[in-house]
This record gives sequence, structure tokens and C-alpha cells, in this order.
Amino acid sequence: MNALILEVIPEGEGKYRLLLDQTVFYAMGGGQPTDQGKLTSSNWLGEVYQVITIDGELWHYLKSDNAPINGDVVHGVIDWERRYKNMRYHTGGHIVDFALYLLGYSPDRLTPIKADHGKKPYIVYKGLVDHDITQELQNKVDELIEKDLQFSWDFQSFEDLKKEAIYLQPNLPTNKPLRTLRLETVGAVADGGTQLHSTSEAGKIMVGDIDTEEDSTIIHYLLPQQI
Ligand SMILES: [Zn+2]
Repeated sequence: MNALILEVIPEGEGKYRLLLDQTVFYAMGGGQPTDQGKLTSSNWLGEVYQVITIDGELWHYLKSDNAPINGDVVHGVIDWERRYKNMRYHTGGHIVDFALYLLGYSPDRLTPIKADHGKKPYIVYKGLVDHDITQELQNKVDELIEKDLQFSWDFQSFEDLKKEAIYLQPNLPTNKPLRTLRLETVGAVADGGTQLHSTSEAGKIMVGDIDTEEDSTIIHYLLPQQI
């Protein structure tokens, strides 16, 4: 990727944040960690350690040996190994979530509230179930992976999303197209994160501890480190 620097803000001690005219970096969000990687220009070399969206703008936080300048053309490369791992963890969470939907727990008895697809991934649901669902959830997750179902995504209006989504997260914007993630034969949800192409690409997902906290259920899951 080549891009143009639109703005540079010094952050002290060889650190800067940059706004680019386009990017391949995924900003931290939707429970998925930030991309990292390198940005280089003809006279400096920088390590991107974090990418964050601030007021709708995507800022690249950079450590660089020389100061980047507005108008510099930069070449960007993401740390693909890190991205792919994040994708696997993120999609893994959606597979667990779709499995809970197929089992009839989500979204009514267990309503998804938030998720973290980082190093110790989990999904938080509002609601409780009165028995241990670990084994049936594991079986359903295994079945989805075994079936090698395909994910696909596109953008559609809130009105159209509403017709097919298995649930709607609170505070979805209604005035712009929303990215819709579909798992074939299962269902669709609004989602902006990066995804694997099929359930089998996740390899194996282990359903971990299922904890409860007041009126919430926290489902932990693990993916073996394959890369
Ligand atoms: Zn997601």
C-alpha cells in the first residue's frame, strides 16, 4: 500500500501520530486488537504500534527514526501474522456466538453485550442459563467447523439489515450502510471486523470457562496457536 500523509502530530520521544489518505491498517475496535506493522518513506522508517479511530479519523501511532512530514508518500505493510491471529480469534468468537444462536440461547436468553477477541478472548451475554451448557456449545461449535460453512459480507442499509439480522446491537447507526456478516445457512449480524472465509479455517475452538457475574454470562474460548 502507498499512501499520502495528510497530518502529523508529534507525540514526543520519536513518536508521532499520522493521518493518511488511505490505509490497510485495521484500527482497534469491535473487540479486535489493533493492527501493527511498518510505514516507510524515502527518508524514514517507522513502526506502527497502534491504530485508533478518533472522531471517525483513523490515526496511526508511529515510532520513527526521523520525523514524518505532511505530504510524504509512505509505504505500509501490516504484521500479517498478528492480523491473521486476530482474525482467527475474532471469527472464532462469531462461531461461538452463531452456535449459541443455533442452540436457541442467543439472543433471547443470552443477549450479546460485548466481546474481547484479544489474548484471552471472551464474549459477555446479558442473561443466565440454569445449567451447564459447555458440552452442548462445544458440540455445536465442532459441528459448524466440521461443516466448513462460508462467511461472506457486504454493506446494506439499517432497514435491510434489520430484516435478516439474528439480533441488532444497540446504538447501530441508522443513517449509513452497515457491514453485514453472514454465515451460510445460519444467519447474519452487523460487524465491522476482519474475518476468516470459512468456519474450518478457525481450525479448532475450545469452549473454555463459562462464568456468571450478577445477571451476565461470560463465555471464554480458546484457539490453539497455529501460527
Ligand atoms: Zn465481530
